[in-house]
Amino acid sequence: MTAAVPILYVGGTGRTGSTVLDRMLGNVPGVFAAGELTWLWFALRSGGRCACGARHVDCRVWGPVLLATFPEDFGNPDAMAEVADEMFALRRRFDSRYLPVMGLPGAKQALTSRLGPYPSRLASLYRNLLEHTGAELIVDSSKEPHYSSILAARAELDVRFLHLVRNPQATAYSWARRRTELGFGVGHEMERRGPISASIYYDVSNVAADALWSGGDRYLRVRYEDLVASPDDTLRRIGRFAGLVIDPEVALGRQAADRKRSAPGHAAWGNPNRFATGPVTLRNDDEWERNAPRSMRTWTRLLAGPVGRRYGYSSRSDTQRGSGLAAT
Ligand SMILES: [Zn+2]
Repeated sequence: MTAAVPILYVGGTGRTGSTVLDRMLGNVPGVFAAGELTWLWFALRSGGRCACGARHVDCRVWGPVLLATFPEDFGNPDAMAEVADEMFALRRRFDSRYLPVMGLPGAKQALTSRLGPYPSRLASLYRNLLEHTGAELIVDSSKEPHYSSILAARAELDVRFLHLVRNPQATAYSWARRRTELGFGVGHEMERRGPISASIYYDVSNVAADALWSGGDRYLRVRYEDLVASPDDTLRRIGRFAGLVIDPEVALGRQAADRKRSAPGHAAWGNPNRFATGPVTLRNDDEWERNAPRSMRTWTRLLAGPVGRRYGYSSRSDTQRGSGLAAT
């Protein structure tokens, strides 16, 4: 039997710095950083682009992978559009709206049974990705805990869950900012959320990630602030968890990687940082400490504070200058 496809899944809520982490891991020889793969179908049907700048069907990585996964349809744009529409519609049958009910008895099974060919097609997509890139590990930064549970249910895939968390105040501030989405060319903005929506999303995503994964040897929690403060140690810790030897100098792009064993720069989807090249700049992005309005801080503290405290973010420090971290 063929060995299962090793996947390091970066999960949790949005705006946690996962694209930066994805870029770093993508520099490591033997790793293919796929970006937010859950959005591939959305990108295919709406004309989005891979991080290399090409449309996915024309990309030197995603083109052959899609051809191998959908050999009957790939050469026909109308048929591929239908595939993308169908995969997108199937994905919506089990999206983040269902996170709050996932803990109910039997809910996960009931929801996954509605997915039709979606899980088996995903399993072949990841297999083809591993084979085409020659990688030893795929990093998928889709973040959504429910999507990770679809992958984890497949025997063909071997999933480890890296739970990336960040101060809820920093994520709320990031959700509120206007940012240009570069994946469609010009004129598009990234999705924004107000503090109430951002906090609820923070809570359900993180609580679901904990409920689905924490406690086992397939789970590692990393705080974005620790990655920024101690990138070398944190990257080595991630490497031990994922079964990789990570040279931080290579991951941070300060030293050239073995190009034969890595193919950075083809994240299928993610925030605009995925288009960046060259050395990775890590910053705490503490602008919220100076600029977040009082109402944003209050709503976030009330709604996301209790879940944030699970990860060591004290509410008291939300109102203070500094790193925004509780002493641990
Ligand atoms: Zn590409």
